[in-house]
Amino acid sequence: MMYEKLAIPNTLAAGPGPGNTDPRVLEQFAKAGIADHMQPDVLRGMKECKVMLREVWGTTNVYTFGVAGTGWSGLDAMISAVKPGDKVVAFVNGTFSGIDALSLRMKAATEEELGANPLDPDAKSVKIINVPHGQSVNKETIESCINDHQPKWAFMAHYETGSGRVNDLRAFSDTCEKYGVLGLVDAVSSLGVGDFRIDDYPGVVAWASCPQKGICCLPLTYAPVSFSDKYIDVLKTGGARSFVHNPILEARHWAIIDGSDVDKGSYHRTHSAYAVAAFHEALRLTLQEGISNRAAKYAKFEKVLSGAFRAMGCDVTSNMTSLVVLNLPKNLSGREMEFVQHCRSDNFGIWPTLSEPVQIRVGILNLLNDKAISEIIERFGIALKELGGQFDDNLVSLEIDRLSRPIAAE
Ligand SMILES: *Cc1c(COP(=O)(O)O)cnc(C)c1O
Repeated sequence: MMYEKLAIPNTLAAGPGPGNTDPRVLEQFAKAGIADHMQPDVLRGMKECKVMLREVWGTTNVYTFGVAGTGWSGLDAMISAVKPGDKVVAFVNGTFSGIDALSLRMKAATEEELGANPLDPDAKSVKIINVPHGQSVNKETIESCINDHQPKWAFMAHYETGSGRVNDLRAFSDTCEKYGVLGLVDAVSSLGVGDFRIDDYPGVVAWASCPQKGICCLPLTYAPVSFSDKYIDVLKTGGARSFVHNPILEARHWAIIDGSDVDKGSYHRTHSAYAVAAFHEALRLTLQEGISNRAAKYAKFEKVLSGAFRAMGCDVTSNMTSLVVLNLPKNLSGREMEFVQHCRSDNFGIWPTLSEPVQIRVGILNLLNDKAISEIIERFGIALKELGGQFDDNLVSLEIDRLSRPIAAE
C-alpha cells in the first residue's frame, strides 16, 4: 500500500504552540548540506548555538545546550537526576504541569509503587500541590508547601500553557534557596516570550524549554536546557538511569566536558546538520530582535487581543502574554469545543484546553505584527457571529485601533 504524497495545508497557527517557524529558519533547514554529525561546521554550529543559548537564557551555566526532540525531551533530561524515593513537591495548575508531575512520580516511585500502577504511580515521596485551573501558583502556596514538606526537589511550570497562567518564579526561586531545595522549572512556554534571565533565579538548578514555542524552530530541532553546577554535582554523585538524556553525557556532543567548554564535541548521538542549521538561525533571530523587545511585543499584542475578545463578550481568564484563554459569551456558554472545531475546519488553528474545564485558547507565537493580530480578531469575530454571538463591532474596532500605538505607550 502506497499513499499519495502527503500535503499539509498552511493554517493560521493561532494556538498555544507550535508557533510559526520563520522562513529564514526553514530556509536554513532546507539549504544545509549533507554532513555527518562530526563534520567541523556542524560541530562549530553546535558550539555557536550553545553560546547563543546562554545569552537567550541569560546565564553563565556551562551546562546549557539543546536536547534533540520536543519540550518533553528537554524536561526528561531535566528530571533525570530524580531517583526513586526522592522527596519532591510539584505544583500543578494545568495540563502541562500535570504531566510534569506524572513524570516526576514515575521517576521518584519505588519499584513496588511503579509496579502497582506503571502508568500512573502513586509515589509516596512526591507531594502534588493542586492549584485550581485558571489560577496561578502564588507565593503563599509555594512558601507554605515547601516549608511543610521540606523536599529534596521542588517543581513548577513558569508559564502553564494549559490554563494560560504565569506562576510566581521569584517566590519559587527564593523559597528553594531559603530551604536548600533543588528547584526544577518547566520554561517550555516562557523562553523567548517573557523577559527574564535565569541567573536571577539561583534557587532553580535546572530549566527546560522547547523548540516550537517562543524559540520558533519547529522542524524538530532542540529543546533548550540549562543546569547549574549544583545540579551537575548532584548528578555526578547519584547518576541517572538514562544514557541519552543524561545531561553530563548529552553535553559532550556540545563540547562541554568536565564542566568546561572544550574545542571539539565528542559523539553522544547522531545530530542532524539540518536541525543544527535551523536552530542556529532561530537563535540568531531571537538575539537580533532581543529578548526584551520581543517580550514587550507579546505584551502589547496580547493586550489588544484580549481586549478585543472582552469587547466581544468573552471572559478572559489567562495572564500569559503569548496566549489568551477564555470562555465564550454567556449565550454560547458550553459550546467552546464546537466553536474551536468550527474555526479549525476553516484552517484557523485555535485550540481548546486539554483538561477540564473546556475553554478556548488563542495564541500569537511569532505572529507579532498588526496584520496577523487583526486577522485573528476578525476571524474569531466572524466565527462567533456564525454561532449566534452578538457584539458591537465599534467596541472591537476601538481595541484594534490600539495596534497603531507605539509599544512604549502601552
Ligand atoms: C508545550 C508544553 C510542553 C510540551 O512540549 P512538547 O514540545 O509538546 O513536547 C510542556 N510544558 C509546557 C508548559 C508546555 O507549554
